[in-house]
Amino acid sequence: MSRRGLARGGAIRERAAGALGAGIAWTWALLAPPRCGICGGPSAPTLPLCPSCERALAGRSPPPPRIPGVDLAWSALPYEGAARRLVVAIKFARRVGLAAVAAEAIVRSAPPGLLGGTLVPVPPAPLRSRLRGFDPAEELALALAARTSAPLLACLARREGPRQVGRARAARLADPPRVRAIGRVPDDAVLVDDVLTTGATLGACARALRAAGAGRIFAVTFARAGRVAGAPAPAARPETGHAAARLDRPDAGA
Ligand SMILES: [Zn+2]
Repeated sequence: MSRRGLARGGAIRERAAGALGAGIAWTWALLAPPRCGICGGPSAPTLPLCPSCERALAGRSPPPPRIPGVDLAWSALPYEGAARRLVVAIKFARRVGLAAVAAEAIVRSAPPGLLGGTLVPVPPAPLRSRLRGFDPAEELALALAARTSAPLLACLARREGPRQVGRARAARLADPPRVRAIGRVPDDAVLVDDVLTTGATLGACARALRAAGAGRIFAVTFARAGRVAGAPAPAARPETGHAAARLDRPDAGA
């Protein structure tokens, strides 16, 4: 067969495969209608979320807290409602594919220039990472890298802290984790995590990056829970609307 004949044959096969794929998708949609990844409600076949959850993820970003060592710590959404359910679905229902939805929400609303540096995932506590089998912060950083073409460098590691048995939860959470740089660190780093809670982990990561030679350090998280230790008191910034949000921790380590 000529080259042209081969090419035409290929195109016909592709069309046939496409029609077969569409047929399978149609049959599958009848058997298992598409569901929203957050609320489980009906969604369009090609979209991960229903319109209502999609709207909820287009909400206002909370004001950036001050975290020592971090030049700007920015979160796409408050940790509540659909944003909170999305984090829970990724972390605890292991719906890792939804990290792409979180990354999309960040890219859509991030201030210009925030995602210009090298993405550095916040390292998980070793035991937690082993138990879970995947790392939500790394999944989010990978999804962000895929959307922005930003480089990604997993250059931080975390060690298990001292035994925490017998200590109050608040005291345990106030302890910054032990973080160190492994290998080269970027000059212009963007720390990535799913949820910002006390800021202790981001602060520890920033110290490790700075000690290893990093210059500018930004941090980006999908959601921000409650009030960050050391940030202005709620009464001092009534304009936020999220100041009174209860301190709600998805994960003891963040
Ligand atoms: Zn939904």
